[in-house]
Amino acid sequence: MIIKKKKNSGKLLGLERLFQRLPDHHPRYLSIENALKATRAGENGERLLAEVFHKYQFPFEHYIFHDLHLRSTGRFQIDTLFLCKQGVVILEMKNIAGRISFPADQNQIIRTLDNGQTDSFECPSIQLNRNQILLEDWFYARNMSIPILKAVVFPRPQQQFENTRTNLTILFPLEIPVFLRNIGEQSPTLDDTQLRSIATALMESHRDYNPFPLSSNYNISPNELKTGVRCGQCGLFGMQSIHKGWGCNQCGYTDQYGHIPGMLDFFMLVNNRISNKECRHFLQLQSHQKANRILKQLEIPSQGEKKGRVYIAGLKEIESLSKRAAEYESKVPIW
Ligand SMILES: [Zn+2]
Repeated sequence: MIIKKKKNSGKLLGLERLFQRLPDHHPRYLSIENALKATRAGENGERLLAEVFHKYQFPFEHYIFHDLHLRSTGRFQIDTLFLCKQGVVILEMKNIAGRISFPADQNQIIRTLDNGQTDSFECPSIQLNRNQILLEDWFYARNMSIPILKAVVFPRPQQQFENTRTNLTILFPLEIPVFLRNIGEQSPTLDDTQLRSIATALMESHRDYNPFPLSSNYNISPNELKTGVRCGQCGLFGMQSIHKGWGCNQCGYTDQYGHIPGMLDFFMLVNNRISNKECRHFLQLQSHQKANRILKQLEIPSQGEKKGRVYIAGLKEIESLSKRAAEYESKVPIW
């Protein structure tokens, strides 16, 4: 039973928006582009992993958690956690293209692309060991001790490996059901009650990860980002405020709700709270009254009165704003 589904990651959406607002001469432009590509690949990999569990039914009692964020002696994230009476299995997806080699005595893996380019990445065994220890600590804090197994999943069945590590289980997506089924056939260490209470405790212990605001996480000063409302047609920033909306000087497009994606950008990239003054600055808007109307229409909590009033967007508010922005940007809703 899948009890925690895979949601699309707000971080990926935020990085896309950060990249849009980053001037192309910015010194971090390339590194943000690379972070965006890596996050997109990771996200696609995790989705693929989740799809395996959608397609396959296991003939024994089990619980599946995708994208689980827990805290014990440290914070940790598990791509997919499979819980059954035999124990838990940690599955981490590594969506890295190319030929992968595992140099001995190194904590890295090296990938080689067809064009000869090589890049190094942290060895997945490091992440799996770290997650195993933190999960053991999570169980220890609850007076439980249960077997923890782990495997890394690479999404491409044609992928080639060199010098793989003996202590690292590598699976392709289609091998996962057989791997887990074999575990399910071993003798159980948990009874029905224990299994269910662990499933409940894991679910209650999960906290959605809030990566915002991204500019500070990526060491970019918010002052360096492009301001203004982005034209939904030609993509230019700096739509003019017109009666009941926004107009693009470049392509003539008008948009009643262009400020919604703009405000989403502010909360995702700059800060989780915004004043009227900051709203006017970010949207390149003169009118105090219009900024006031925009902020009120966000339908998010506020603090303080008059000039001291700030509007505050937590993760939940950012998610719902993101849905509204996606509607206005004529895209499929992201969350
Ligand atoms: Zn335009």
